[in-house]
Amino acid sequence: ASERLYLGMDFGTSGARYALIDRQGTIHAEGKREYPNYMKEDSLDWALSWKTTLFSLLEDVPVHLRPLVASISLDGTSATTLIINSNTGEPLARPYLYNESCPDALPLVKSIAPINHTVCSGSSTLCKLVSWWNNDDSDKKSTMLLHQADWLLWLLHGQLGVSDYNNALKVGYDPEADSYPDWLLSQPYAQLLPIVKAPGTSIGHLKGDIRTQFGFSEDCIVCTGTTDSIAAFLAARATKPGKAVTSLGSTLAIKLLSTTRIEDARYGVYSHRLDDKWLVGGASNTGGAVLKENFSDEQLEKLSEHINPMEASPLDYYPLKSVGERFPVANPKMEPRLHPRPESDVEYLHGILESIARIEAKAYMLLKDLGATQVDEVFTAGGGAKNDKWTKIRERVLGLPVNRATQTEAAYGAALLALKGCQ
Ligand code: ADP
Repeated sequence: ASERLYLGMDFGTSGARYALIDRQGTIHAEGKREYPNYMKEDSLDWALSWKTTLFSLLEDVPVHLRPLVASISLDGTSATTLIINSNTGEPLARPYLYNESCPDALPLVKSIAPINHTVCSGSSTLCKLVSWWNNDDSDKKSTMLLHQADWLLWLLHGQLGVSDYNNALKVGYDPEADSYPDWLLSQPYAQLLPIVKAPGTSIGHLKGDIRTQFGFSEDCIVCTGTTDSIAAFLAARATKPGKAVTSLGSTLAIKLLSTTRIEDARYGVYSHRLDDKWLVGGASNTGGAVLKENFSDEQLEKLSEHINPMEASPLDYYPLKSVGERFPVANPKMEPRLHPRPESDVEYLHGILESIARIEAKAYMLLKDLGATQVDEVFTAGGGAKNDKWTKIRERVLGLPVNRATQTEAAYGAALLALKGCQ
């Protein structure tokens, strides 16, 4: 018999991708689609765009590989929320996007949730739900809340009302108790909440009409998904406590696999559950955006060639694009510090890279102080991962092995969840 394959899809902020892998993690096919711009009453019809893109990606999977797909999973952007008709699955309102804020709901949410809970942010899923509940005067009997990933997976398996505990965190789900807390269940809108399973759990078979239309196999299953940033972490296959992924994109974000759960609202640090472990995360405002303001990608490459990474730069900067930092220093008034600027651009760049590495080291130190498992190896994702001189600087400053992550695409992480659902 031919080898079975596992399909993962990622619905990110700017477009969607798919990755098709085998048991060993080898990629057999991958692809990307932009979201089409469908309009509905003067605004973008996101639900239709995502749905169309989902089926476009299925079209893009090579015909001869489709019968080999044993399992499908996908991720969506965190806190992207749909209110749907619980009989038909049709959206009852425009989807609330991940970064949309519903400050009108915040006072009410703060009055019911524990202090500093993740839901106490205007863009949380719970604020979106409460805002809809209080502002929409349609009949609320047959309604249900789904996250973007849940809804797209529903289009594939057809069982309404299933989510995963990564997506459900920002609506208030307690991943440790593995239930919704009482303060949430006692609310009138609790009836809208989906049931919650671990990411990468089989929900059911791929719907018959989709299976026959596209030529997938009869036993192909659909599994619960996760959020896009967790899927990107999963892609790096950092599966042991102490393994971490630093993302050096426009900003610096770190994620560490820990045996203990830590939360600290001051620093915006919180933990997602991953089976019997915790994925601890924090995001700094420093990062590549400052590099981009000063240098083109070509300049970054040329100048980096002349840096000696074994030598510590004496320049002590705090590179920020604008005022304010959250993690690893909580100070909304922190000023960017990029002075004195030396005459040599090589020295200037060395100073910036070294300073960002010190902030990264401080970030891992803070997680340890807050009670997380001590980091022992760092994988790197994002635009900064390709800079080998920076990697060497970071190895020296962190005192740890630093390697580029082999896989960084969230779609690859989603494919690993599809594989998990078959085991
Ligand atoms: P995002 O998706 O967060 O916008 P990317 O992961 O695409 O970011 O990374 C882009 C960032 O990487 C830019 O800020 C850019 O300055 C930085 N970058 C690009 N090339 C290099 C390099 N050789 N060394 C360090 N940083 C780089």
